[in-house]
Amino acid sequence: MRAAVFRAPGDVRIEPVADPAPPGPGELLIRVSKAALCGTDSAEWAHGPLLARPPVVLGHEFTGEVAAAGPEVGGFPSGTRVVSGAGISCGSCAWCTAGRTNLCASYQTLGLHRDGGLAEYVLSPAAICRTAPDTLDDTGAAMAQPLAVALHAARRGKVGPGRSTVVIGAGGIGSFVIAAAAALGASPLVAVDIDDGRLATAAILGATATVHGGRGDALELVRDIVGGDGAQVVIEASGAPASPAAALSMARKGGDVVIVGLQAAPRPADLFSLSVREIDVHGTLAHVCGEDLGEAVAVLAGTGLAKTVLGDVIALGDLVEAGLRPLAEQKAHGKIVVDVRGSV
Ligand SMILES: [Zn+2]
Ligand SMILES: [Zn+2]
Repeated sequence: MRAAVFRAPGDVRIEPVADPAPPGPGELLIRVSKAALCGTDSAEWAHGPLLARPPVVLGHEFTGEVAAAGPEVGGFPSGTRVVSGAGISCGSCAWCTAGRTNLCASYQTLGLHRDGGLAEYVLSPAAICRTAPDTLDDTGAAMAQPLAVALHAARRGKVGPGRSTVVIGAGGIGSFVIAAAAALGASPLVAVDIDDGRLATAAILGATATVHGGRGDALELVRDIVGGDGAQVVIEASGAPASPAAALSMARKGGDVVIVGLQAAPRPADLFSLSVREIDVHGTLAHVCGEDLGEAVAVLAGTGLAKTVLGDVIALGDLVEAGLRPLAEQKAHGKIVVDVRGSV
């Protein structure tokens, strides 16, 4: 089969590889139709290996149909359209037992540690797959995993009905976080960015107000909307160096701050203010399939999210030049989806 193999820094090749082994107990062999790309893929190609263990087939956001089910799998007859989560957990360690499968002691991610979905076929545990409804097309279904990541981040910050929420950064994962916060009922929901196009998209995705961080004092503008005490939830999704400190300043006393954007170095923050205002700061990693993936499918099937964030749909053969490179150079607009079955 053809697959996108990450071999070494700057070296991703579309090449023939052996078909996966027949599915083992609890596994599905999935014939991939579409796979979405994200910053993780481009970062591994450009600066990796960071988390990946090359050689490995990339792709952790994908959908397809069941080609074969292994022993002990129920509910996934051949031909079933499925979305797959990305993280494989053991089910028995302290974290799995506590329901925090994304922190599993032996956590592995498809497309980083095990061969992923930028290939004609991929093996995935049935336990992390969900059926895609007919109302959700393949392009939308390929976005279930990133939306699950966003839903998890929003839950970490206790986003909920009527909770005032600010999302800093409305590109990439930020746009999914805004959609997730809207789905969970955040109100008001403020998007902060320095790009007018992204802010316009954020409004379509459910932001009730937008703030251009490059025009005026973003903190003042946010307070004008959520009230002078600040927001109950602030989610930092930009990764910009100054944004964690800005996020802390925008949170009200007793509020929650979630750091989604990965920082390349330690950043200064006012920890005195954090202490005396009892701000809860949360990390967030990937998603918990049991909580987030099914809901992600439902949100995608019931909203225009996928069409709103969709960028280019590209062929697998164009993965590097039309996918990984523009993502790495921050020139991509919208979510790039790879048509794995399309012609070269
Ligand atoms: Zn991703
Ligand atoms: Zn575990």
